[in-house]
Amino acid sequence: MTSRTAIVTGAARGIGAATAARLAREGHAVAVLDLLEDQATATAERIVAGGGRAIAVGVDVSDEAAVTAAVERVAAELGAPTILVNNAGILRDNLLFKMSLEDWDAVLGVHLRGAFLMTRAVQAHMVEARFGRIVNLSSTSALGNRGQANYAAAKAGMQGFTKTLAIELGKFGITANAIAPGFIQTDMTRATAERVGVPFDEYVTAATAQIPVARPGVPEDIAAAAAYFASEDAGFVSGQVLYVAGGPRD
Ligand code: NAP
Repeated sequence: MTSRTAIVTGAARGIGAATAARLAREGHAVAVLDLLEDQATATAERIVAGGGRAIAVGVDVSDEAAVTAAVERVAAELGAPTILVNNAGILRDNLLFKMSLEDWDAVLGVHLRGAFLMTRAVQAHMVEARFGRIVNLSSTSALGNRGQANYAAAKAGMQGFTKTLAIELGKFGITANAIAPGFIQTDMTRATAERVGVPFDEYVTAATAQIPVARPGVPEDIAAAAAYFASEDAGFVSGQVLYVAGGPRD
């Protein structure tokens, strides 16, 4: 297997951290990007302690200049990135009539603007290498979810963005696919439980009752799907949305 340079955004914790660790185990050098470099450092250090190659890079993915600088640093320190996982995300849930413009803009800014800026910066390296793997994090919320007008719009947008990347970049050996997780136990879902005032274990139990495989998702479930899309073997799979939700979604 060819060792490549991968970038995972929002990889200080949760799904991003598990995906960074998994890609490192697959033999790739991994740039662990997150808002604050010192928060990304722990993920990078775990990878290095396990015998892998990794660096931590602080970047706000919605900041154009910061994204350009971060991708240049990754290319200089680890080599040209040809795997990109757009995972950074935030929630600012509220019912539409109470949702502020700031909360709308913040969510679309991190998910959509962030994925756009990161992908635009990294694709030049992929085109030059005539190889690329782009994996975007969508969500089952793309199908609609009460209290998440901003997040659902962003996650549905990620799907259209992914399919367009697949069409535009395919001829350069680049694939683009989206993963739409269902309920995954992370700080993000913990924060949601706190916001609605339900103890996390009760929240997990209630969510699990709706999941056909009868267990909550864990970050490694998503990391495994990302590793497949990032693999050489997945070269004829592009523009797809994979629901990783313990059961069917449509
Ligand atoms: P998480 O634990 O909250 O981790 C998200 C990471 O993204 C955090 O480390 C966060 O940093 C970082 N981040 C936020 N804004 C950023 C920015 N502007 N630039 C760079 N990094 C930023 O979330 P998660 O549950 O692992 O979710 C990961 C992805 O999966 C997200 O896109 C999410 O929407 C999606 N997803 C999650 C679930 C689920 O059930 N957990 C389900 C469907 C989809 P800070 O901590 O500093 O804010």
